[in-house]
Amino acid sequence: MYDYDEQNVFAKILRGEIPNKTVLETEHSLAFEDIAPQAPAHVLVITKGSYVNYDHFAATASDAEIVDFTRAIGEVCRKTAVSEEQGGSGYRLISNAGPAGVQEVPHLHVHVLGGRVLGRILEKAD
Ligand code: AMP
Repeated sequence: MYDYDEQNVFAKILRGEIPNKTVLETEHSLAFEDIAPQAPAHVLVITKGSYVNYDHFAATASDAEIVDFTRAIGEVCRKTAVSEEQGGSGYRLISNAGPAGVQEVPHLHVHVLGGRVLGRILEKAD
């Protein structure tokens, strides 16, 4: 059972209650700059639909939403010029979920990170 919190910060952004620096808006997705960037390019792509995380979205979203979100992420890679197709040097996509994923905001989002060498994917476990 996926329990969506309507008061999370990204729900507030979607309702226009909190400002954002929009990079891209489509029918079902919104992309904006991360408020605390971890790399020269750090954009968050979120669904307009109320999904807690990726598995919630994949299990219950419409095909139209899934296509829109997938294409929006790719378009952000090109718009931020991290795509090698645009002369960039590559990027990393991250979608954190739950406590183990250290998810801070319980609304599905994909981080698009690039503009520097990002290091290995995970820290070593203790
Ligand atoms: P996560 O740990 O994957 O849930 O990451 C949530 C991300 O949201 C973090 O990178 C935060 O810096 C970012 N964030 C939190 N509040 C805002 C906001 N108002 N506008 C833009 N990004 C935000």
